[in-house]
Amino acid sequence: MNQQIEQYAKKILDGQLLERDQIDELSRLSTDHIDDMLYWANEIRKAGFGNKVKMCSIIPGRMGGCSEDCAFCAQSLHYDTAVDKTPQVLSDGQIMDAAAEAKSKGVPNFGIVYSGKKVTQAELDRLIALTKRIKTELGMGVCMSLGIVSEENMKRLADAGVVRFNHNLETSKRHFAEVVTTHKYEDRVKTIEAGHKAGMGVCAGGIFGIGETEADRIDMAFELRRLGVDMVPMNFLHPIKGTPLANAETMPPREILRIVALYRFILPKTHLKVAGGRVLNLRDMQSWIFQAGCTAILSGNYLTTAGRAVEDDLQMLKDLGLETV
Ligand code: SF4
Repeated sequence: MNQQIEQYAKKILDGQLLERDQIDELSRLSTDHIDDMLYWANEIRKAGFGNKVKMCSIIPGRMGGCSEDCAFCAQSLHYDTAVDKTPQVLSDGQIMDAAAEAKSKGVPNFGIVYSGKKVTQAELDRLIALTKRIKTELGMGVCMSLGIVSEENMKRLADAGVVRFNHNLETSKRHFAEVVTTHKYEDRVKTIEAGHKAGMGVCAGGIFGIGETEADRIDMAFELRRLGVDMVPMNFLHPIKGTPLANAETMPPREILRIVALYRFILPKTHLKVAGGRVLNLRDMQSWIFQAGCTAILSGNYLTTAGRAVEDDLQMLKDLGLETV
């Protein structure tokens, strides 16, 4: 057992947060001592979250036709991908049916995701009405991902009962401008802050395997810690044909586990949700994410790629002795 990793883990278990230079050292150690990192990340997870795992499903309320140019995204109008250029908007009935189906499978939280930079007031009104229906008719927690949202509109969503708002940083401030040019990193920070001010939980994370350095990954984790988000989705690139990252190499499973474990050391009390790219990149090692410190999963299909059946994920959690909340 590497003594330095053990010493840092014990500091965290004593309630301390590690500083940047300590995390840099852990990052250097983690490559040669990945099993030690996983062991301690699991101990930190158990201390903070016991055997509880959050599970959510999402639906693309609006798919495609996005004006933005995120280099990893199938929904951008800037790239020639298989996603329709005309945005596809689901009806109220389709969204309610999908929520009911998720509930019938045992998924407690349902997220509605809209492509695009922002939503109109009419769309916001409709989503607020839908939130109220999902809450009262199905008793599910509702989350939203609607692009950039003002403080005033964030307040309206919170008042309607949206429990958590998703808006990812995607990567570090430094690397952001290399993968997105149509809006600024600061716009994303402002939306996250607006969600907080409205009193909602904030789900903000990013995507790995998009040309970022290890320092970029650590920078993003510290920024998420500064922003006080309570859920960090960790997506791993699923290269999409037609995008600038179409030929990027996928990440090896143990490298993904190492990054999740490092994030557990940086964000000991924050939910870490392994989301997009889980099935493609982790293959048979999907159940190892909990050993690496993960406390939440996105189950069912992702926005533009196929995920794993909710039933299979529930069976995996049961086999691991983990409980869904
Ligand atoms: S990640 Fe969101 S904002 Fe960026 S291109 Fe895709 S849908 Fe648009």
